[in-house]
Amino acid sequence: MTPPEQSFRAPPGTRDVLAPESARWEALVERFAGLAGRAGYGMVLLPMFEDVGVFARGIGESTDVVSKEMYDFSDKGGRHICLRPEFTASLVRAFVQHRPTTPWKTWYWGPAFRYERPQAGRYRQFHQVGVEAMGSEDPHLDVEVLALAWRFYQALGMSRLRLDVNTLGDGACRPAYREALVAYLAPREGELCEEHRERWRLNPLRVLDCKRPACREATAGAPWQLDHLCEPCAGHWAAVLDGLGALQIPYRVQPRLVRGLDYYTRTTFEVAAEALDAAQDAVGGGGRYDGLSEALGGPPTPGIGFSLGIERILLACDAEGVFAAPGARVAAFVVDLAGGTEALCLVDELRRGGVGADRAFGARSLKAQLRVADRSGAAVALIVGPDELAAGTVTVRRLRGGSGQESVKRGEVVDRVRREVAVEEAG
Ligand code: AMP
Repeated sequence: MTPPEQSFRAPPGTRDVLAPESARWEALVERFAGLAGRAGYGMVLLPMFEDVGVFARGIGESTDVVSKEMYDFSDKGGRHICLRPEFTASLVRAFVQHRPTTPWKTWYWGPAFRYERPQAGRYRQFHQVGVEAMGSEDPHLDVEVLALAWRFYQALGMSRLRLDVNTLGDGACRPAYREALVAYLAPREGELCEEHRERWRLNPLRVLDCKRPACREATAGAPWQLDHLCEPCAGHWAAVLDGLGALQIPYRVQPRLVRGLDYYTRTTFEVAAEALDAAQDAVGGGGRYDGLSEALGGPPTPGIGFSLGIERILLACDAEGVFAAPGARVAAFVVDLAGGTEALCLVDELRRGGVGADRAFGARSLKAQLRVADRSGAAVALIVGPDELAAGTVTVRRLRGGSGQESVKRGEVVDRVRREVAVEEAG
């Protein structure tokens, strides 16, 4: 057979995550599942692709995510499909479809897809963990959701974090604020950055979030939504800040924080990791989306949630030197010098007894098998040779913390390994 002319690589903006790095992913998701589960959130599984309208209508046509970054295509049945660029719109679509009783509190994890320019910390397939809570306007739900995100970062050991919060008002007060902003921006159009000089009327709020110096300067004296809240929104906002204070969660009010998705109302927030480069330092964000259910054809239903980027969280953990990869889960490594089925049976017995066990394959030398045993991270090697087989014993050799080996009766091996691992863990 002629070799292929070209070998394949993972597409730009995607990454293979291999062990042992993947063990950190498992641990991270497990920790998130624990936190969310203990707070009454149930896991949801959603399709990775949806009708393109779910995102176009949900997120907003004028957003970067919808206008530039969607992985959309027509499938073989002629449906216009989109790989999910985020979870919230998809989750609310599921809410509208199934009408679960509220409050409906959910958590999820998985990949999302955006056609962005790949760089460190910015991928085309990235992964998020998140929660969404639908059906209550209570400001303490906002605080609960914010606190869940904050406690999660803390649980990973992260500490160099900045939580920015803002309020975007609602259907009652945002239109008047928007007019005030338009009146402010119109005479300053020429001072805006090139992109916003053209596009600012499509979504004037987005100009406030623009990082380019021209927009920053032009909007220095702009009116803020914060100062134009209706009474219910002002009360809601005050209660959210009060709750964050009561839980001693440090925050900074950032009136420029608009976020890139159009569905947000009232509370919005973003968490930045100070250990990362400013261009990709957002490790999570979220907010209220009280109009999203209606926008997707459902009953008026308030909601709030967040999504956190797993890749960026892990980069930030690396930069802070926290949340190391968990240790090996293999406690014993069986070295087979006897042939036959003895090693097969011993490994099976160990695993059934709840002891992590691995073995070498291919009848290699003692030295070669011990090398693999060392690499496996196991605490002990269990050597099964012809002598052991004849005597009904196994040689237990310690691989860490002082060498040494001894002969143990075959029937006592599983217990012996358990004790050995317990001693090591206690030490
Ligand atoms: P967003 O829905 O844009 O607020 O994104 C929520 C979080 O997902 C961000 O704070 C990032 O941590 C992460 N994220 C968003 N886009 C990307 C991307 N292209 N690559 C890696 N992480 C991302």
